[in-house]
Amino acid sequence: MRVQFTLRCETCKSENYQYTKNKQTHPSRMEVKKYCKRCDKVTMHKEKK
Ligand SMILES: [Zn+2]
Repeated sequence: MRVQFTLRCETCKSENYQYTKNKQTHPSRMEVKKYCKRCDKVTMHKEKK
């Protein structure tokens, strides 16, 4: 069972990545460090509901 969601940059709030995850293995909200084009650096990205 996979769900799709958006990863959003916490610094500039731009929505940079589309992800799918398994809801049973990752039931909580994901937080990952990803490169943001608008910030031009690696920032924290959080799952947007
Ligand atoms: Zn950003």
